[in-house]
Amino acid sequence: MNEPRPLGLYLHIPFCKQKCAYCDFYSLCDLSLVENYLAALCTEIRLSGDLYHDRIVDTVYVGGGTPSLLSTDQLARLFSALRASFILSPKAEITLEANPATLGEEKCRALACAGVNRLSLGMQSADDRELQTLSRLHSFASFLESYRLASRFFTNISLDLIYGLPDSDEERFLFSLDRAISLAPQHISLYALKIEEGTPFAARRAELALPSDDIVADMYLAAVRRLAEAGYRQYEISNFARPGFVSRHNSRYWKREDYLGLGPAAHSFVDGLRYAHAKDLAGYLVALREGRLPPKVEAYRPDEKENINEEIMLRLRLVEGLSPAYLKEKTGYDILKAKGDEIALFCRGGFMKQENGRLCFTPKGFLVSNTILSELML
Ligand code: SF4
Repeated sequence: MNEPRPLGLYLHIPFCKQKCAYCDFYSLCDLSLVENYLAALCTEIRLSGDLYHDRIVDTVYVGGGTPSLLSTDQLARLFSALRASFILSPKAEITLEANPATLGEEKCRALACAGVNRLSLGMQSADDRELQTLSRLHSFASFLESYRLASRFFTNISLDLIYGLPDSDEERFLFSLDRAISLAPQHISLYALKIEEGTPFAARRAELALPSDDIVADMYLAAVRRLAEAGYRQYEISNFARPGFVSRHNSRYWKREDYLGLGPAAHSFVDGLRYAHAKDLAGYLVALREGRLPPKVEAYRPDEKENINEEIMLRLRLVEGLSPAYLKEKTGYDILKAKGDEIALFCRGGFMKQENGRLCFTPKGFLVSNTILSELML
């Protein structure tokens, strides 16, 4: 008998107590809708479970928004719906994103009891002035309290930090990074601040004293060195882990493995089809109330050329890079033959390297990866 094929699940919780100044994720602050949303999400879980009854779920990621603002009772209902509708691998990695301001002892216990075994905590900075600039709800002291509490219940904690903040420089960023490292989390993600249209930051872009691109690049390179010295292995452009703690769920995205996204604004890639759900909570609630799955938007099956481009773009995000032999076997495309001159040039410039039959970016190359990718893709 064939083994059931693996599947990752992403569940979107589109609510936040308040919007952070930089954030363009789909989330709303009307918490009166949470209960109705949870009922709809549980219906979507049930309907999707019927469709994917032959799959084994080996990663679950509950993101948002702020999943940790669900009450203990709501979290228990969410996870029991999940377990009732899908076959979960006993070794499934189950991650939940938590805002330090919404995490108490009772919630940590409820999450651990529900089977959550990985917590992703939005630390962002160790500097209270920066946290205020970002409109985060927590101070560094309250983050520390949440972290210490969480580490009593979870042995796999990831911290998110943002660099390139207004008024910041390398020294200030490394101060935050060192505070994060001193806590010895299992995983650290670093994100460069991007001013997204429609956010409060975009509205006052002219007032923000943003560091130059060169300073932001120095922050990144210094962080890569500091994390390596502290025993964190970089495995993706923004992600660093102690041995054994690579995010299995996020790795699916870069390796083009199947994942199903539930909730408004969630994206899916299943059986070769990419699609999303609309950023429309009202429409989502109506569809599920009527017992229908929400419509697929932006749905397409990558064609031959798109498959090649996705393989190149996503695999090269990983430090292990792309195996040209694998790419040729999977798609028929010989990148070394087609782009040999460009690759040689990028290798000579110290932006890429070829090692053990793989092609990968160096840290310096990651900084200009978009430009290089545009040269390498079809
Ligand atoms: S808590 Fe997270 S999802 Fe919510 S507004 Fe802030 S960054 Fe965005």
